[in-house]
This record gives sequence, structure tokens and C-alpha cells, in this order.
Amino acid sequence: KFNIRIKGNYKYELGELASTLNYMAQEIIRSNQVKDDFISSISHELRTPLTSIKGWSETINSGGYDPEETKIGMEIITKETERLIGLVEEILDFSKLQQNEMKVSFARVDLKELLQEIMLNLWTKAEKRSIELRIDSVDKPIVEGDANRLKQVFLNLVDNAIKFSHENSAIDLIVSFEGNNVVVQVHDTGIGISEDHLVKVKDRFFQVDPLNGGTGLGLAISQQLVELHHGILLIQSELGVGTTIVVRLPRLLEDDSPA
Ligand code: ADP
Repeated sequence: KFNIRIKGNYKYELGELASTLNYMAQEIIRSNQVKDDFISSISHELRTPLTSIKGWSETINSGGYDPEETKIGMEIITKETERLIGLVEEILDFSKLQQNEMKVSFARVDLKELLQEIMLNLWTKAEKRSIELRIDSVDKPIVEGDANRLKQVFLNLVDNAIKFSHENSAIDLIVSFEGNNVVVQVHDTGIGISEDHLVKVKDRFFQVDPLNGGTGLGLAISQQLVELHHGILLIQSELGVGTTIVVRLPRLLEDDSPA
């Protein structure tokens, strides 16, 4: 009787082990596929600016352009080089985060001031498309964080909001307190993301529209940076209606501020 019971359990465990192993194998196959797709899309992203730089510099070098065309060419080369640096920095950040090697130095950060700075940085870009940037914030929404990294997070979120908004619209940055947290909402009334694409956006290597000239890493990096600050990042979006990104971070009360 005793033996039969063991045999029964053993069989059950073996079945469970087999299905776990099967699941793990499927996951490995899937994540390898995702990585392969990622490498091919990132290579494409890197090749596009390099091809342009090569073309322009070769023609300039051969003396094939007049001074005006040469000036335009040099401007394109500078812009494409900046784009390449940005792409490489994104890849490096992502890989550091994946390997738990992102270094952060924490201090007291006022999110209202930080968002106002970001609005100034992105003002011209928004204005070009007649998009208004607005802020509605509580006083002293203080968190403990790495100011540069938090700036990177909100620059990415507001930049996306501008990129995917219609002309003559507005983007709202709303900062509030919720319990012991500071909550920032970046709200746009742009193109939105469909439900099944939202699932894929949350998959860290994926990008909804691979033709929009991005790596699809921005949101994944932002999300992981927020998590490094003991916070969470949520995406709420409806196709054709708009997107709200919610970032919740632990509030630093004045009493616990670092000396
Ligand atoms: P990328 O650098 O390629 O823009 P992100 O990770 O920042 O990558 O965004 C991933 C994708 O999510 C974008 O390509 C876009 O399709 C979608 N997305 C992000 N933010 C928004 C937004 N505010 N409105 C609509 N779509 C968005």
C-alpha cells in the first residue's frame, strides 16, 4: 500500500516535472526568437544612419558638392551621429539594467521642478507641432532618486507623448499624492495603442511599429529605472483615444530627507 502511494506521487511529480521542463523549453525558444528579432531590428536601426553618414561623407570628400550642399551634408552627418550615439546609449543602458549593473546615486528630488525642466527641454519640439505642454502639480512632490535617471524616464515619456500626439493637442503632466506615494501621470490624446499591441509593448524587446525609427527600448528602460527607484510604471492606452503613463514612486517625507 505504502509503495503504491509513493509510486502514485512519483508518477504525479514526474508528470509535473515534464510539463515544467516543457514550459521552460518553450520559454527559452520564445525568448531566443525575441532576441533574434531584437538583434535584427537593432542592426537595421544602426545601419540606417551609418549608410547615410557614409554616403554624405564620401560625396563631400570627393568634392562633389558646392559649399551650400556641403553645409547641408555636414548637418545631416552631425544629426545622424547624434542619433547613433543615442541608440548605442539606449542599448548599453538596457544591457546594464538587465545585468543589474546600473549605478544610481540617490538624493532628494523635487519631481515638480524636474518636470518643469523637461517641459523647457521639449518646448520647441512640441511647439513645432502646435502641441501644448501643461503641468498640474501638488507642492513639493519629493522622492528619493537619481535626478539624471528620473529625468531620462520622464524625457522619454513626454517625448513619446509628443511623438504620438496629433497636431494642435495638449499633453498633461499631473502630479499628485496617493498615500505614501507620489504619482505622475503623462497624459496624451494621441493615436493610442491597441490592446494586443499593448501586450507586445510590455514585452521588452518589442516595438509596435518597427518603422517609426526607434529601438522600442525606451519604455522598457523607463520601467526598469522606475522599479530601481522602488516604484511602478503602468501603461493605460486606448487606440484612437490616447495614452496615459502612470509612474508611482515612494514619497520622501521632509523628515526622512537625507542630511
Ligand atoms: P521607441 O524608442 O521605439 O519609441 P518606446 O519603448 O519608447 O520605444 O515605445 C515603444 C512603442 O510603444 C512605440 O514605438 C510606440 O508604438 C508605443 N508608444 C509609446 N508611447 C506611446 C504613446 N504615448 N502613444 C502611443 N504609442 C506609444
